[in-house]
Amino acid sequence: MLENVTLDKYERPIISLRITLTNRCNVNCLYCHHDGMVKSEDEMTADELYTICRVAKNIGVKKIRLSGGEPLLKKDIVEIVEKISSLGFKDISMTTNGILLEKYAQDLKDAGLDRVNVSLDTLDRKTFEYITKKDYLEDARKGILKAAEVGLYPVKINMVIMRDINQNEIDDMFKFCKKHGIVLQLIELIDSENCDEDKFSAEYHYNLDDIESELADIADEVHERKFMQGRKKYYINGGEIEVVKPVDNSTFCANCSRLRITPDGKIKPCLLRNDNLVELISHIRNGESEEQLEEIFINGINNREPFNQ
Ligand code: SAM
Repeated sequence: MLENVTLDKYERPIISLRITLTNRCNVNCLYCHHDGMVKSEDEMTADELYTICRVAKNIGVKKIRLSGGEPLLKKDIVEIVEKISSLGFKDISMTTNGILLEKYAQDLKDAGLDRVNVSLDTLDRKTFEYITKKDYLEDARKGILKAAEVGLYPVKINMVIMRDINQNEIDDMFKFCKKHGIVLQLIELIDSENCDEDKFSAEYHYNLDDIESELADIADEVHERKFMQGRKKYYINGGEIEVVKPVDNSTFCANCSRLRITPDGKIKPCLLRNDNLVELISHIRNGESEEQLEEIFINGINNREPFNQ
C-alpha cells in the first residue's frame, strides 16, 4: 500500500485524493461546511478529472473519493467514474446524500465505483426536513438500500451528531445499519460558514468523547485507522461504528494522508484551511506537460501544514 507514495514535509504519506466535483447540491443542510467548495460556477470536465487522477496516480495516490456539493448532480457522473476507474486505483469511493442513488447505483458499480458513503443524520422524517430543508428521506433510504444491493461495499452512513437534534438517535441508526450490513460513521460537527459561528457551536456541537468511551466499554474489538486521521473503529455485536473527530485537530492532522481538489480545479492541501490553495486546472487547460503537472501537485503537498502548529 505504501510503495511509491509521496511524503509531505511532516513525513505524512499522500494516499488519497478527495475531489469535490460540483458546488451544486439538492439539499441545504443547516450545518454544511461546503467541503472543498469555493464561490465559483466553474466545474471540471470528465477529461480534466481523468488528467488530474492520472497525475495523482503518477505521484503515488492510491485512492480517489468523489464528493460535492452533491456528486450525483453531475450529469456525466457515470462517465467520470468510468474514466477514473480505467486508471486502476486501489479504491474509488463517493460521498453522496443518496437521494439520486437508487437511479445510479448499478451504473456506478458497473463503471467501477467500489463503495459509497451516504450522509444520513436521522431516520425521522421531521428531523430530516429540519436538517436538510427537503422532504427526501425516503429517496435517501431507497438509495442506501440499492447501493447495498448492488454491492457498493461497504456502504457507510455518515451521521453528523448534533446536540438535541439527533444525539439520541445513534442506537436506532446503528440497528438500521446492522440490519442491512452497513457501517455507521459518527462525525463530530465542525464550524460552518452556513451558520452564525457562536450560535452554531453553542447550540449544536456535541463532543463525541463520551460516546466514544461508551462504545469502547461495549465493543468486542477496537481498531485505529492509522492513515485515516487516527479514527477508531468499534466492532459491536456484529456491527461496526467508526468515529470521525476533525475537531481534534492534532490527531486528525497528524494522521491525515489526504489531498483535496476544489470544484474549480485547485489543490486544497488541508480540510481545515483555505489559505494555501494551489491553482491546477488552468495548467491542464494550457496543455502543460505531465512533469509540470506533477510539479504542481508536489507544490500542493509542500503546502500541507498541521492546523495546530
Ligand atoms: N452531498 C454529499 C453528501 O451529502 O454526502 C457530499 C458533500 S457533504 C459536504 C460531505 C460530508 O461532509 C457529509 O457526510 C456531511 O455530513 C459532512 N459535513 C458537512 N458539513 C459538516 C460539518 N459542519 N461538520 C461535520 N461534517 C460535515
